Amino acid sequence: MADYRSVSHWMATVDDDLTPLPALDTDIDVDVAIVGAGYTGMWTAYYLAAADPGRRVAVVEQEIAGFGASGRNGGWCSALFPQSTSSLAGRHGRDAAVALHRAMRASVDEVGRAAAAEGIDCDYRKGGTVVLARSAVQLERAREAYAESEEFDLGLQLLGADEARARLGATGVVGGTYTPDCARIHPAKLARGLSAAIRRRGVALYERTRVTDLRPGELVTTGGRIKAPIVVRATEGYTARLPGLRRAMAPVYSLMVATEPLPDEFWDEVGLAGRETFSDFRHLIIYGQRTADNRLAFGGRGAPYHFGSKIRPEFDRDARVFAELRRVLADLFPRLGDVPVAASWGGPLSIPRDWTASVGIDRASGLAWAGGYVGDGVATTNLAGRTLADLILERDTELVGLPWVNHRSPRWEPEPLRWLGVNAGLWAMSGADPVETRTGRPSRRAALFNRFLGH
Ligand SMILES: Cc1cc2nc3c(=O)[nH]c(=O)nc-3n(C[C@H](O)[C@H](O)[C@H](O)COP(=O)(O)OP(=O)(O)OC[C@H]3O[C@@H](n4cnc5c(N)ncnc54)[C@H](O)[C@@H]3O)c2cc1C
Repeated sequence: MADYRSVSHWMATVDDDLTPLPALDTDIDVDVAIVGAGYTGMWTAYYLAAADPGRRVAVVEQEIAGFGASGRNGGWCSALFPQSTSSLAGRHGRDAAVALHRAMRASVDEVGRAAAAEGIDCDYRKGGTVVLARSAVQLERAREAYAESEEFDLGLQLLGADEARARLGATGVVGGTYTPDCARIHPAKLARGLSAAIRRRGVALYERTRVTDLRPGELVTTGGRIKAPIVVRATEGYTARLPGLRRAMAPVYSLMVATEPLPDEFWDEVGLAGRETFSDFRHLIIYGQRTADNRLAFGGRGAPYHFGSKIRPEFDRDARVFAELRRVLADLFPRLGDVPVAASWGGPLSIPRDWTASVGIDRASGLAWAGGYVGDGVATTNLAGRTLADLILERDTELVGLPWVNHRSPRWEPEPLRWLGVNAGLWAMSGADPVETRTGRPSRRAALFNRFLGH
């Protein structure tokens, strides 16, 4: 049996032996068949079962619940959406963009509420997010984020240097921003808790069962066929492996490290007293949290996109990226200098061609989907699950009118253009920060790429 504990520090530290549930071994008929037992698939099953207990729902997972990004992520349950509110407003109008942001804020709370209602202790702590500015150009970006927040009433606070340092005592802090709209969680405790919660509500979950084809009215799996009038695709970073979907999403890896538990003296100096999640205004995304057992769990992008949208276990680990994460941590917190890293891991997230997450259903075929969250899926999947439940039950709610519903992203270019394009973007972002540090001026290539991505 696969060693599922090695998937991530989170999967290694759940109170659960991770034994797979029985695989599908016969043909079955259900009302709704869901592919993928990550947060998207499980929240969808959860809200469907809660709203209509009589409906027969099956979830099919190629490994075990939480095997994908849902059991590996940084644990920011945030109101962040992959597209900025101003760009959503440009496309859909101000009211629609603000409504989506409100729904995201509510989703942060809903994850906490539902977890508590189901007795899932996932270390949920809503302490907000602090994003540091550590140079003049980063401070300028903090001001721009604040200006967008003021325009759309997003609730971001602009912090002076002392206020920012009081939240997080990293080196070189000249200011920052703070939002209360984020909870720190232990990702795998949420994923595994959801798996138990949906089964208690009568959802059938088949593990170690791979879907090899997904058609209107039917899933073909390694263990049998599932007939269902509604089929939901919730496969995120793995989507490109399904027939006909090779160019739907580009899987990109995010990698993480976790320290051993750190002593009180470290936290007295560094802060995060409210368990704020944290980042800074550099271009190449980094993200961190103080865990319930006082470790720093810290991650970032920088791993390459792999030709042909390939996903392989060996891509979860990249010595160069781990060394860079370690270097950035030591730069932020010199006291960490030689504190050993206890665990390192990674996983695929998913980027649609227009960086726009979407949720929807095609009524004619009964095919539904949700995904394309880039790196902001923890709370967004909850919104997706509630929205899919409303769409499937044909309920006319506020959620089904949000602007991401039934959005269709264009396909990615065929290879080698996809490989060139995605890696050029990653290269532009990783090269931009050192240039800014050297010159003290905003990076031109990062600005160019941001324009190209419309993001
Ligand atoms: C390292 C890392 C850090 C991240 N940090 C954050 C963060 O801090 N905050 C945040 O908001 N987001 C973060 N994200 C993104 C977030 O984790 C994801 O957006 C979210 O978990 C997506 O959930 P999902 O259910 O859609 O996909 P997944 O969790 O990937 O689930 C998809 C599931 O489908 C299964 N599957 C795929 N294909 C098949 C098939 N053919 N047959 C059967 N089963 C199949 C997979 O095994 C998998 O279990 C991070 C992601 C990574 C990788």
